[in-house]
Amino acid sequence: DNILEVRNLKKHFKSKNGTLHAVDDVSFSIKRGQTLGLVGESGCGKSTIGRLILGLHQATSGEILFNGQDICKMNKAQIHNLRKELQIIFQDPFASLNPRMTIGEIIGEPLLIYKKVKRRAELDSEVRRLMDVVGLSKRFINSYPHELDGGRRQRVGIARALSLNPQFIVCDEPVSSLDVSIQAQVLNLLKDLQAEYGLTYLFITHDLSVVKYFSDKIAVMYLGQLVEGAESDELFKKT
Ligand code: ADP
Ligand code: ADP
Repeated sequence: DNILEVRNLKKHFKSKNGTLHAVDDVSFSIKRGQTLGLVGESGCGKSTIGRLILGLHQATSGEILFNGQDICKMNKAQIHNLRKELQIIFQDPFASLNPRMTIGEIIGEPLLIYKKVKRRAELDSEVRRLMDVVGLSKRFINSYPHELDGGRRQRVGIARALSLNPQFIVCDEPVSSLDVSIQAQVLNLLKDLQAEYGLTYLFITHDLSVVKYFSDKIAVMYLGQLVEGAESDELFKKT
């Protein structure tokens, strides 16, 4: 049961120096409830794949089937609707969280945009529930992003991503800007959430050790192409 199937995906960026094949004929699939680790050095095209899946870039060619529906063929309204099922967590929550909004407002915003709550009190209790789910103390509800450390900010990003109860989350370097001691906590949280909600992850990272114990399958990218793909235990099999 593949929740996501990427087929012959290409993304070219044109510049005055020519055409950059950022994603060059990439195919892979992810089974529902599993994690695919997408690894490779900086600049090889991982984030571009993440953005294509989110519908933030227009593909040059290829298909991205999400529950059988091609994201590449969706219009703006369909992409908007897709957000309820497909979310993203970014590397640097400080860059992706609005600095003028409180933690409570940031977590609750998708619920308002998608009209998932009708009354103020309902919004407030849902935000508090989400803070519980990600292990964030409610004393931060009226704080601003700069008042939190990196690990707590990433918990805010995760709570916001979870707010619409999605099936699939693109995790784009979610722990790369965190201290090593905090990385394990956030990875464990993501793992627990996956078990609890049956989430599917595309886990993008330049750090193979981060996905080693986390991914069911690993795909290795190099210069826009997939150069290796394997079941995780196969790739790390002791010889
Ligand atoms: P990674 O996530 O693996 O670090 P990216 O997907 O961010 O790699 O980038 C892949 C390549 O595409 C890089 O050479 C990058 O500079 C280029 N690139 C990414 N986004 C754009 C863009 N919007 N316009 C032009 N080039 C881009
Ligand atoms: P990140 O990988 O954390 O998203 P980047 O610095 O790679 O940060 O990219 C920041 C923004 O600039 C992104 O929107 C990306 O698409 C764009 N970008 C990246 N590389 C290029 C490039 N070579 N030319 C134009 N835009 C780019």
